[in-house]
Amino acid sequence: ESSGKMPPPVGEYSGSNIAQSHDVLQHLKSADFDNEFSLVYQPKVCAKTGRIVGLESLLRWNSPIAGVIPPDVFIPIAEEGSFINDIGEWVLNETARFQMRWRSFTLSKGFRLAFNVSPKQLRDGCFVEKVKALISSGDLIPEYTCIEITESAAIDDFEDCCKQLTKLSDLGIEVAIDDFGTGHTAINYLLKLPAHVVKLDRSLIQGVDSEEKSYNVVKNVVAMAQSIGMKVVAEGIEIAQHALCLKNMGCEELQGYHYSKPLTEDQLLKALAQQPYK
Ligand code: C2E
Ligand code: CA
Ligand code: CA
Ligand code: CA
Repeated sequence: ESSGKMPPPVGEYSGSNIAQSHDVLQHLKSADFDNEFSLVYQPKVCAKTGRIVGLESLLRWNSPIAGVIPPDVFIPIAEEGSFINDIGEWVLNETARFQMRWRSFTLSKGFRLAFNVSPKQLRDGCFVEKVKALISSGDLIPEYTCIEITESAAIDDFEDCCKQLTKLSDLGIEVAIDDFGTGHTAINYLLKLPAHVVKLDRSLIQGVDSEEKSYNVVKNVVAMAQSIGMKVVAEGIEIAQHALCLKNMGCEELQGYHYSKPLTEDQLLKALAQQPYK
């Protein structure tokens, strides 16, 4: 990520200047999204070829009052109320704008642009209507779109969530279960959510090259997901050994600092010119 306005990468954030969640919510509510929010894009790589096969957009917030606040901090706060819907709508529209700018490229490569959606956003059905409208107006191509359902909040109405996801899936959008193996995401998500993809959480990947237990669990999770027809993406691939392990397990796509940090659009152009990644 570029200097100046962009936030430091995850892990380097000290957290010492995190305001009280009440303040964060107030700053969010008064934020000028178009000026304070931006998206960065992290490549997803084919495990076999090392080529970029998709991108995930990640939200950044640079508040003139509070400074850079990472999404891990402000998304859960926004999720406590309905404010996540406003943020989610901005992300959806910005994702569509990105897809538009990159249309000729995306079409020629056929890769999907993923963005993160909180289960809270799916609650009232408005989100699906907005997605539909963008598809109808030609601003979003469902075949090149993926929605990652995050685990930051529990799914409180499971049945309704499934209904909304089925609608998105029927539109041609790929649905991914994010952060599998952590927090709220459990095996019943694999069984019940109408999703095409499962993303293994970074915390599962950490010990895969050094701990036998870890290796065996991940190997069997990959096999389990594939046995029910799901594609497996591993996130948090930080070193070559992680990549090798997951590749040998048959995991289809890999993502992590080993390949690339989240990139601005300018950086993305350069990265695309230099691939495949090794
Ligand atoms: P996530 O969707 O699981 O995204 C992966 C997070 O791990 C990102 O942090 C990414 O920058 C970081 N990451 C990627 N590769 C590596 C790696 O190899 N090592 C390490 N240590 N970290 C890696 P980020 O961008 O801070 O986002 C944190 C979380 O905030 C996301 O987790 C997602 O749950 C949420 N989030 C981000 N953008 C949005 C958004 O637009 N909407 C919603 N609802 N949630 C979002
Ligand atoms: Ca994600
Ligand atoms: Ca997450
Ligand atoms: Ca994760």
